[in-house]
Amino acid sequence: MKTSRNSSTFDLVIIGGGSAGYAAARKGAAEGLKTAVVEGGKEVGGTCILSGCMPSKALLYASEVLHLARSAKTWGLKIPKAGFDFKAVMARKKVVIDDCVQDRCQGLTSGKFKFIRANARFVDAHTVTFSEAQPGAPESIQAKHFVICTGSVVSPAAVPGLAQTGYLTSEDALSLRKLPKSLIVLGGGPVALELAQFLRRFNVEITLIQRGGQLLREFDADAAAVVESVLKREGVRIWKDTTLTKAFRHGRNKGVAFEHGGKSHRVMAENILFALGRSPATTWLNLEKAGVKTDSGRILTNAHMQTSAPHIYAAGDCTGPHAIVHIAVEQGEIAAHNIASPSARQRIDYRLLTNVVFTDPQMASVGLTEKEARTKKIPFKAASYPFNDHGKSLIMDATDGFVKLLADPASGEILGGTCAGVLGGELIHEIIAAMHHRMTARELALMPHYHPTLAEIWTYPAAELAGL
Ligand SMILES: Cc1cc2nc3c(=O)[nH]c(=O)nc-3n(C[C@H](O)[C@H](O)[C@H](O)COP(=O)(O)OP(=O)(O)OC[C@H]3O[C@@H](n4cnc5c(N)ncnc54)[C@H](O)[C@@H]3O)c2cc1C
Repeated sequence: MKTSRNSSTFDLVIIGGGSAGYAAARKGAAEGLKTAVVEGGKEVGGTCILSGCMPSKALLYASEVLHLARSAKTWGLKIPKAGFDFKAVMARKKVVIDDCVQDRCQGLTSGKFKFIRANARFVDAHTVTFSEAQPGAPESIQAKHFVICTGSVVSPAAVPGLAQTGYLTSEDALSLRKLPKSLIVLGGGPVALELAQFLRRFNVEITLIQRGGQLLREFDADAAAVVESVLKREGVRIWKDTTLTKAFRHGRNKGVAFEHGGKSHRVMAENILFALGRSPATTWLNLEKAGVKTDSGRILTNAHMQTSAPHIYAAGDCTGPHAIVHIAVEQGEIAAHNIASPSARQRIDYRLLTNVVFTDPQMASVGLTEKEARTKKIPFKAASYPFNDHGKSLIMDATDGFVKLLADPASGEILGGTCAGVLGGELIHEIIAAMHHRMTARELALMPHYHPTLAEIWTYPAAELAGL
């Protein structure tokens, strides 16, 4: 490692101060490494806080309260005019985000590690230089180890004419000043569905166009169908099995042309939301200078989060394979721990992989889905129970959907759970805990559950699987 004037040397330099980077920095410093974090964004916070989980869930929750207020009659209540002030809705969201940003800034400047505000790129395997640096940043920095945590960016608009036509990204949709009258949503994944429902409940006419035959393709088809039917009931027009051919302008409106069932179709709206995915933010890093291999931009790592350059690790969306915050945090912690304690290395384990979509009803799964078990030929038995036959959900008039459990046919160990229903993102945690402790369906069924709660719904499929 060469040293140069104006350069500092660290045990560990983390590039990116989002969920993965912040977790790696805390872990590295706690395990005694001289650590620095480099963050190049205009604002500090990363995707989760600034333009992902927090703003989207804050807005979805507002839309859910509005929906409940509009449905008050169900419980015999009179709320004659449930309306909204969109500026105030956005202002409330900003209060939540500002609070999180402040917390993250405090953590990053706590003095436990050096915090540098600049964009980093490799010049060789042990050195990064900076651009757009804020005052006080060195010209370059050297380290024995790196963890790359640069996250992801919205994928380029791969629809002919879309760039020229103009479109909104998820980030734009989460900071709208004025609601469009109508919107075409391109995509059928979590971000597309969450934004479609939030905007629909704020009276925007939504047409959602999805390439494949199933929305939320990471879930079982029966679970995805629950959300699809609710979105349709609320007035979202959904096209599946389509091939997008072009986007275009027509007067003050924008349009999308696509093929479906052997015919050509066109839909028009005031604007288009492009929600067809994100790509790793790695193009600017000069990774070839550091000897780090990628596949379509995604940094390749082993289960220790180590890249092809043994002293460089990666965590979070820039490496994948799952763009989920708690995975980014776990990967970041494992990377920093493995650098600090090479004799006690940890591996990332996706056995308890959890997915949640915060539509209403929510979609959540942990571990195996039926689809995955079939593809991988893993033996399983499954049992389901519907929310329309369950005490607490009847009280709440939240009767859409079901819960499903998968268990090993020989040992009875729970292999996976899905909740397509009210507060699924909360309910799934019971199954995460059960699977973490490798509980059997019988043990879950016999565990006490308070009545009447939503959580007790899990006892029905558990009892069926256990033959009780
Ligand atoms: C609309 C939306 C909703 C979402 N909702 C959820 C949800 O509900 N639950 C969930 O688990 N996940 C959700 N996600 C995904 C989640 O936000 C990401 O998986 C997570 O934030 C990734 O964390 P990260 O640390 O890998 O990247 P980021 O948080 O994006 O951090 C990367 C950081 O690196 C910085 N950076 C990039 N390049 C450089 C460089 N060269 N030098 C210095 N700094 C650099 C960036 O400025 C950024 O701050 C959502 C995503 C979106 C877009």
